[in-house]
Amino acid sequence: MMAQYLEIKQAHPDCLLFYRMGDFYEMFFDDAVAAAQALDIALTKRGQHLGDDIPMCGVPAHSHESYLLRLIRQGFRVAICEQMEDPAEAKKRGAKSVVRRDVIRIVTPGTLTEDSLLDARASNWLAAVAETAGGMGLAWLELSTGEVAVAPIDRAGLGAALGRLDPQEVLIPERLAQHPDLFEVWGDWKSRLTIQPNPRFDSENGRQRLLTLYGVGTLDAFGAFTRAEVAAAGALVGYVELTQKGRVPRLGTPRRVGPGAVMEIDAATRRNLELTRTMTGERRGSLLATIDRTVTGAGARLLSVHLSAPLTDPGLIARRLDMVEFALGDERLRGDVRAMLARCPDLERALTRLTLGRGGPRDLAAVRDGLERAGEVRTRLNTVADPLPEGLAAIARDLGEHSALVMRLGEALAADLPLLARDGGFIAPGFSPALDELRTLRDESRRLIAGLQAKYAEAAGVPALKIKHNNVLGYHIEVTATHADKLLSGRNRELFMHRQTMANAVRFGTVELSDLERRISEAGDKALAIELGLFETLVAEVVGAAEPIAVAARALAAADVALGLAELAAERGYCRPRVDGGTAFLIQGGRHPVVEAMLDAAHGGPFVANDCDLAADNRLWLLTGPNMAGKSTFLRQNALIAVMAQMGSFVPARAAHIGAVDRLFSRVGAADDLARGRSTFMVEMVETAAILNQAGPRALVILDEIGRGTATFDGLSIAWACVENLHDVNRCRALFATHYHELTMLASKLPALSCHTMRIKEWQGDVVFLHEVAAGAADRSYGIHVAKLAGLPAPVVSRAEEVLKILESGDQNAAIHRLAEDLPLFSAALKRPPAPAPVAAAAPAEPSPVEDALRAVNPDDLTPRQALEELYRLRSLLG
Ligand code: ATP
Repeated sequence: MMAQYLEIKQAHPDCLLFYRMGDFYEMFFDDAVAAAQALDIALTKRGQHLGDDIPMCGVPAHSHESYLLRLIRQGFRVAICEQMEDPAEAKKRGAKSVVRRDVIRIVTPGTLTEDSLLDARASNWLAAVAETAGGMGLAWLELSTGEVAVAPIDRAGLGAALGRLDPQEVLIPERLAQHPDLFEVWGDWKSRLTIQPNPRFDSENGRQRLLTLYGVGTLDAFGAFTRAEVAAAGALVGYVELTQKGRVPRLGTPRRVGPGAVMEIDAATRRNLELTRTMTGERRGSLLATIDRTVTGAGARLLSVHLSAPLTDPGLIARRLDMVEFALGDERLRGDVRAMLARCPDLERALTRLTLGRGGPRDLAAVRDGLERAGEVRTRLNTVADPLPEGLAAIARDLGEHSALVMRLGEALAADLPLLARDGGFIAPGFSPALDELRTLRDESRRLIAGLQAKYAEAAGVPALKIKHNNVLGYHIEVTATHADKLLSGRNRELFMHRQTMANAVRFGTVELSDLERRISEAGDKALAIELGLFETLVAEVVGAAEPIAVAARALAAADVALGLAELAAERGYCRPRVDGGTAFLIQGGRHPVVEAMLDAAHGGPFVANDCDLAADNRLWLLTGPNMAGKSTFLRQNALIAVMAQMGSFVPARAAHIGAVDRLFSRVGAADDLARGRSTFMVEMVETAAILNQAGPRALVILDEIGRGTATFDGLSIAWACVENLHDVNRCRALFATHYHELTMLASKLPALSCHTMRIKEWQGDVVFLHEVAAGAADRSYGIHVAKLAGLPAPVVSRAEEVLKILESGDQNAAIHRLAEDLPLFSAALKRPPAPAPVAAAAPAEPSPVEDALRAVNPDDLTPRQALEELYRLRSLLG
């Protein structure tokens, strides 16, 4: 057996080998050590190899999925090795022969299909990157739903494209893994990379694979693909064949996402805007979680795809918006269809499992129920009096006509279904006469057995006699030890045969009982064989209709997304945005979708709506205002409104007119990236560089507090130059928030720049944030006020107020010197170059001539004229 184990393990060196032994999957050697630690299970040993103990651990086969999930999450790949024959078969070859085993599947993060291993509301993408002489290509697929797509990319855009997909696993060729230009990108995806030999990314091999997979003579029918795209898609299909051991599920025809078809959002922007996850990696609190009103897993997955890849074509966006608008206007339709969808199982994933030969009776039921819902939704859509918008009409068509299959599955399947076909009992009575006959026989025999119990109890004179069943003895008679003698004496000895004596009970058999048992068991075996045959037939019928079923599943998801967005718009009072090919950006009464929802949930104050107009002659807004006044919120809300509008959603505003944004950039907040060896300031500059290098006239840029992480003048200079560059070179629409009030001077020099500020009210020494954006510039930041709110100790706050007053009272250099002389702490710091004395040891400074002169003056003795002269004299003492 070990020889067999080692041979199989050698063929799968990069996987943990789940080696099936009876009811367990066992692991040996290093695999066992690693798995025992990862799963926190006992490490034992079994036998010896080359004189050493063999470490071993195992997981029960019936509950292995939860262990599998934990291992996959920790980055392991697992090869599942099954027994390929009955142990009895092996015995026929000789007492010592080993059961045949083989790996039936390699489980990797990107190739999961089981519901228990997948998040119902999130896609599980497997991506591949290829490069040929003509450029690079990206391909991605979701094995559990059969979706496939490809896109051209370039090295600079690779990180953004992967960020959009967020794949669980990325296949790359060895050659690219070594490429210095891509180190940064691979660094970000390190834990999800699977490096494959270069030939697997050969475009000609890829083409052949795809031709065979789709059974076509040329790929032209699917669109014009570049060689790199074909190579990437081919690598994906090859990897699926490799991990599924030759079984490839139904895969849809590849969809091509052409260049510029979707709004480009780089990884940093995606993170900063918390589109699908918050900065801390959670779904809760993200834009996605806030706008998700879908009621099916497939709908939630599609919504996430739409949000991650907003469109740029105004026509396609309008098509989506038309659906939302229509569903918003017909509340009854919306309610009815959403109620139908809520009872719809995950059709796509069930279908894939069936096509992979991994499905069970419940997957057949999911297909039945899903298609039934599809029929209901179609009928409901078609009863609408008004003409449906194009998108909904297409959905109604795609839902298709599946009533024959629904009826057939409805007749075939029983009410309660086991998980696995081999457990039997899933075919409904009345579907197969042969099966019914066997079941009657089985049930009849069971009834006969119950009758026998009464008969034997009477014959033996033991009323407590029972007929029981277990896996070792099968049916048997059981009496307590005290009654056993009665069955062993007299005539009874001929009827009852002793089989087993236990501590308290004695067990017997009879010829009649064995006979009945054999009949029950034969009938059971035959019934199961018939059921399994029927299962195969039904699966084949479903797989035969896989294409239209997949189309219907997608249509259900699309309906769920459109209706969910309509529900959201109704609930939150969103409006339909106008998106066109121009460069307008006019948001009236805009709100931040997430902050607004959070304020509502917490019964906080109302969210204050704000306008934003980045017309061509006014495309760069410089926003100043106190801390905590709402600058970041305003910046983000405008970016989020653009994303929502272009994904085809209504937006949180009174009105919105947006010229389609081709690239969105944001630099918001500060975060260290220590893992990649970058300080806060470095991260900020890397992100800013990306924006200034890439933003074109159709881009939308939001920049928050550029240049904060360095010395004041350095930061101000950088911010100044960035604003000039955005205005003159990038010429994009931009919102620039800053505390460098000096920047507002640029308004007179840069014609398309205008200054805006967050309004506040000062009231009895306190500051009230109004959260209103108004034209103009702020003169102060009120940082100390916020520090006070945050709980800085009172002496620190009052000292800070004092220092601020002195700093603001004139020439900054002189003020700093005055402060320094005032405070030993500062004087030590200022005098540092000549005298690096420790702070505590700093000597008190000599009084200056001005101070001496000042001390000599008694203001009460002076006439106004003398006072003025004295002031001139003091000033002259400064030299
Ligand atoms: P800082 O300069 O300190 O970064 P900021 O000006 O960027 O501050 P935000 O972080 O945008 O301020 O906002 C602070 C808080 O004010 C938010 O968390 C939110 O609760 C509230 N707020 C912001 N805008 C609004 C608004 N329009 N209506 C109501 N509350 C708002």
